[in-house]
Order: sequence, then C-alpha cells, then structure tokens
Amino acid sequence: KKLGWALVGLGSLSTHQLAPAFAKTKHCRLSSIVTGTPAKAEEWKKKYSIPDSHVYNYETFDKIAENPDVDVIYVVLPNSMHEEFVIRGAKAGKHVFCEKPMANTADECRRMIAAMKAAGKQLGVGYRCQYEPHHRECMRLAREKTFGDLKFIDAGFGFQIGDPTQWRLRKKLAGGGALMDVGIYALQACRYIAGEEPVEVIAQEVKTDLQKFAEVDETISWSMKFASGVVASVMTTYAFNGANYFTATCQGGRFGMDPAYSYDGLKGWTSRPDVKIEFPAVDHFATEMDAFAEAVIAGKPFAPSGEEGLKDLLVIEAIYQSIKEGKAVKVGAV
Ligand code: NAD
Repeated sequence: KKLGWALVGLGSLSTHQLAPAFAKTKHCRLSSIVTGTPAKAEEWKKKYSIPDSHVYNYETFDKIAENPDVDVIYVVLPNSMHEEFVIRGAKAGKHVFCEKPMANTADECRRMIAAMKAAGKQLGVGYRCQYEPHHRECMRLAREKTFGDLKFIDAGFGFQIGDPTQWRLRKKLAGGGALMDVGIYALQACRYIAGEEPVEVIAQEVKTDLQKFAEVDETISWSMKFASGVVASVMTTYAFNGANYFTATCQGGRFGMDPAYSYDGLKGWTSRPDVKIEFPAVDHFATEMDAFAEAVIAGKPFAPSGEEGLKDLLVIEAIYQSIKEGKAVKVGAV
C-alpha cells in the first residue's frame, strides 16, 4: 500500500517539485492538500483528482486527524510556520515530514521533537541531499578514508535573490537570510562529510544592500572547528550566483562536488583518476519521500530526523551570535 501524503502549503516547492515527484515514488501518493488560497484548492483538486473531503485550510487542518487516507503530513510553509504545523500534525496523530530549515530557533526544534515523541510518530526533515547518490558516495569516501584522514572542508551555497517583498527577506517569517535558506546546505555537507559535530564557530557578515537586507543576512562567511581537529571554511549569500560546492581535503587527496546542491546536474570529482563520483540523476524529492515512507512502513527510525534539524539550528544560532559578538562562539548542546 502506498502511503497517503498531505501537502501543507502549495507554494513554489509544492507546485513545481513535490506534486510532480509523487508520480516517481514507489511508496507515496498525494492524498490531501492544505491551503489558505481557495483558487489553488480548485486547481489542485482538478489536476490531482483530490476529493473535497481531502481539502483543508489552516483553520480546518486539525480535522486531518479523522482522515485515515493521510499517513504523512508534509509541511512546506515559510520557516516560522513549521513549528505550529508540525505540532498540530503530531496532535492529529500523523507522521510528519518538515521542510528545511526545520524551524527558526533551536527551542522551536526541541518543542517539535517533543511533540512528535509524545505522539509516537516519526518526524523527518527535508534534507534532500542526504539521499542523493553523489552526496552519499562522498560520505562513504570520507567514512572509509579513501583519501586518508579528513583535514579541511570548504563549502558554499548562495544565489542572487530577486523580489524584495518575499517572505525570505522578512526575519519574522524566515528566521534569517541566506544562512537559514541556503547556507544550511553547505553546513549540512560539512557535518555529514566530517561525520561529527562542530564545537566552535567564528563568523563575519557583509551587507552591501542595507535596504533589501534590512532584516536578514546577505552574505556570511564562517569557520568551524570540529573536535577531531577538522576545520571547515564556509560561505553563503543572497547577493550573487555561482557558489554551489564543497571540497574535502584529506591527508592523501581531495574530493568534492560542484555544483553540489542543485536539483539536477550535480557533479562529483576527485584528485585520483581511478576514483570517480558518477551516478545517474535521481529526483531528490521522490527519493527522500520514498526513504521516509520505507522507514514508516518498516517502523524503523528515519534519518535525518528532528534531531538533525536541531543540530543545524544550534550551529546557525552560534554563527549569528558570533557575528553579534565579534568573537568565536561554542556551539550549544542538543
Ligand atoms: P513559497 O513562498 O513558494 O510558498 C510558501 C507557501 O506558504 C505559499 O503557498 C504561501 O501561500 C503559503 N503561506 C502561508 N502563510 C504565509 C505567509 N504568512 N507568508 C508567506 N507565505 C505564506 O515558498 P517555498 O519556496 O515553497 O518554500 C516553502 C518551504 O520549503 C520553506 O521552508 C523553504 O525553506 C522550503 N524549501 C525547500 C527546498 C528544498 O530543496 N528542500 C526548496 C525550496 C523551498
């Protein structure tokens, strides 16, 4: 049986990536929608054959508890709304998959994790790269020390953001700027390539457009120390295109990806001609939804879970604190 999913928030990601991805999954189908826009409800009902009984708005959302056709709730709203809808999803007794960043703060993540634990349901975070084969191969090369001990990672992800009125530039809705939205991918790569947690960060922020970025960060570069002695140098930006990479420098060679975080066209490389990182393209969203569904069906814990989302928020909070205080900051404990 395929699991029924309810999409909450029918914005760009839901429309262009998630809805089409269901057709490419083995274990998932789009069962229900939650939207605040009646016109979108009409459009989606027709396009995806969704009955009236499976259409909710933000007020009627909790009635999803009575719908046996919904196994998983997928929260695809602006970051500040993730906490509310994950906790309401937990109270509805459903498994919940939540987009990245998991929330705006570490405390929000903690409350989400607690609510899902109390409900006895699984919480997954939409870190699509963790199920992408090039990234998984890089994790394996690091873990198996194919190039010797890992010493240094550099990573970056950014883009030139358009529309100045969008929620991504409002602190209340987005929690922060480039770091929360795309820097988190570079941070993730450092954490899963290192296979350990950063213990200390020091960061620097640059703002060239004080009006557009009045509320959120534009460009940040930061350095992270890991307990083993590995160091990472990372950047993120909303000001320009082009940064989309990570490199792992090891005792006996180097490997990495560039581009690393796009939906397709990913490329891996290594310093040794006999070691290649080449895989056919996969749909990141179909792959991660199937992985979550398999965990739910098997009753096995899914990773990346809420704890993984919390760990990123702890580093992000340390980065913002370092910018504020102008000095190195220890990463908080889970
Ligand atoms: P979007 O702006 O296109 O869609 C947001 C949706 O939320 C819209 O349907 C909007 O109507 C609704 N909404 C409800 N209340 C709102 C409010 N107060 N302000 C603004 N919108 C409101 O955003 P998106 O790009 O679809 O992103 C949604 C979530 O998905 C974010 O958390 C984002 O970080 C994440 N995302 C993840 C990926 C990925 O690759 N995993 C890619 C894009 C977005």
